[in-house]
Amino acid sequence: MRFSMHVLLSIISLSKTYRQLGHIVEVFHDVSIEFQQGKSYAIMGASGSGKSTLIHLLAGIDTPSAGYIRLTTEKLSCEKYESFTPQKKAEFFQKNISIVFQQASLFAELTVLENVMLKAILAGTVTEQSLQHARNLLTEVNLLNKADAYPAMLSGGQQQRVAILRAIFIVPQFLLVDEPTGNLDDVSSQQVIDLLMHYQKKYNMGLIVSTHSKVIADRMEELCVVKDKKLDLIVV
Ligand code: ADP
Ligand code: MG
Repeated sequence: MRFSMHVLLSIISLSKTYRQLGHIVEVFHDVSIEFQQGKSYAIMGASGSGKSTLIHLLAGIDTPSAGYIRLTTEKLSCEKYESFTPQKKAEFFQKNISIVFQQASLFAELTVLENVMLKAILAGTVTEQSLQHARNLLTEVNLLNKADAYPAMLSGGQQQRVAILRAIFIVPQFLLVDEPTGNLDDVSSQQVIDLLMHYQKKYNMGLIVSTHSKVIADRMEELCVVKDKKLDLIVV
């Protein structure tokens, strides 16, 4: 268990524009907000309001047009973070923040076990310990018997749970999840959200979930609404 209430994922004076067919579309305008490790947040908003964009920005896989995003810990001050090179910042994000995409996006040609330990495979750091960690995660969700199966052999809900394990594998400080239950039935949705809450508590992560579901939003501690290029944190 980690007790690091001072780990913050912060958005500072951020604006985001996209270019669409020669037009500039502004999705966020001068937004500032702070997410804390150990807390859970629902991101709600109409289709096209910018929920996926926000999740991608927070994960460091899309870049702000203005302003910035910062991850600071008790050991890492703002000043020190700002002194990092862009490459070092990207590495720091990858080590501490994981994302679960809207589509489970598992690699079809890798087994379930390999998908779970993808980050170790990519980093070239596969050890007996990392293998065991991946097997333990699969055991926790009753999918160890699928370790050597390929994603196509799994149901949508099972694939989504494997995608969550893949994100959890590195024990991130923040887990970002984009509409996890969009394509799932009620029972599978419930399993997915239970799993997210389980790991949020177990690892004391910050959990940020974009969703259309009021039922899911009610499970989170805080509600953040995306509207008119702004983000409003609504204390519930
Ligand atoms: P949501 O997830 O809330 O449905 P998105 O973040 O996907 O919203 O999209 C917000 C707005 O940004 C939409 O108008 C969308 O068309 C636009 N947008 C998103 N991604 C891109 C992109 N890569 N290029 C151009 N426009 C984009
Ligand atoms: Mg979206």
